[in-house]
Amino acid sequence: MFYDELKKYDWDGTTRAILAKTPRDVEIALSKEHLDVDDFMALISPAGAAYLEPMARLSHRHTLERFGKTISMYIPLYVSNACTNHCVYCGFNHDNPMKRLTLTMEQVKAECEAIRRLGPFENLLIVSGEFPTLNGVDYLEKVLHTARPYFNNLTIEVMPMKSRDYYRLTQSGLNGVVCFQETYHEARYKDYHPRGMKSIFEWRVNGFDRMGQAGVHKIGMGVLIGLEDWRTDVTMMARHLRYLRRNYWKTRYSINFPRMCPAEGGYQPKVVMTDRELAQLTFAFRLFDHDVDISYSTREEPKFRANMMKLGVTSMSAGSRTEPGGYAVAPDSLEQFEVSDARTPLQVAQEIRDLGYEAVWKDWDKVFD
Ligand code: SF4
Repeated sequence: MFYDELKKYDWDGTTRAILAKTPRDVEIALSKEHLDVDDFMALISPAGAAYLEPMARLSHRHTLERFGKTISMYIPLYVSNACTNHCVYCGFNHDNPMKRLTLTMEQVKAECEAIRRLGPFENLLIVSGEFPTLNGVDYLEKVLHTARPYFNNLTIEVMPMKSRDYYRLTQSGLNGVVCFQETYHEARYKDYHPRGMKSIFEWRVNGFDRMGQAGVHKIGMGVLIGLEDWRTDVTMMARHLRYLRRNYWKTRYSINFPRMCPAEGGYQPKVVMTDRELAQLTFAFRLFDHDVDISYSTREEPKFRANMMKLGVTSMSAGSRTEPGGYAVAPDSLEQFEVSDARTPLQVAQEIRDLGYEAVWKDWDKVFD
């Protein structure tokens, strides 16, 4: 399991190694076709910041080779904001005295129909807080059955589960699982997640192994940018991705680097990542892993999303509402975070076309399940 592998790496030692990278290390990394984690560290280092243009050119080339001129479109469906966890940066955390809503199947159906009216989406990301007795495996199985007739590709972003539960859901139409480790800094992880199941670092970080063991078709991973030193966190994630590719080689992978927004309750990010740094990180990951799907959500501004479209990003959300019932049932409830790109899906798709790319709504058919 990855937790055992992670113990081999020292956080502070990794930070020092990244900061010690030189222009020569960056040039060596840029000259290679297949990069190791050490090369990745050079590309994301402060020394790597001076090489943004050659990195962008290579990232563009690899993305074009693997994905063509396409951007895969997806939309999130928040089904429940009930949560037993206490993540200090999240408006849905258990201590926040807000109204909670867990959608009934009738409401899920109404949301699916409203989403289909927004655009021809086939990739649905089902998102829920973590409250096992309200939105646990039985509930999610019903949601999958309800959403299945409307969408060909169903992914969940919910509580980490046992391998047999992931497997059970794959039998009910589940194609992918997204889980954010938030941070790989085990000691500090506890400060951000003081109580609830999510406070158990080992359970969360080993969740990706359980997805792989269950044969989940696609696994999405990410760290929350704003908690700890981002360079060290994404290096741990690069190690994790390499480990997963080695052990679960039939699985497809996607990555996402959400930059933290202030949540209800006023949590301010400890670390701020600039647009240039996010671009550097995106290029570095593309050079490190040519096949990984790199996703940008509506957390990012339209202009920045458009600039990055040709340079490494391969999937985008659009039209997102981040509260349960946001599309049809209860559009006034509290959002998990504010979106920065509030354009309609069809406006986003039009921009993709204007830039010479194709917005791909469907890249999977349920007959493949
Ligand atoms: S981040 Fe997820 S697990 Fe944490 S409080 Fe928010 S909804 Fe719950």
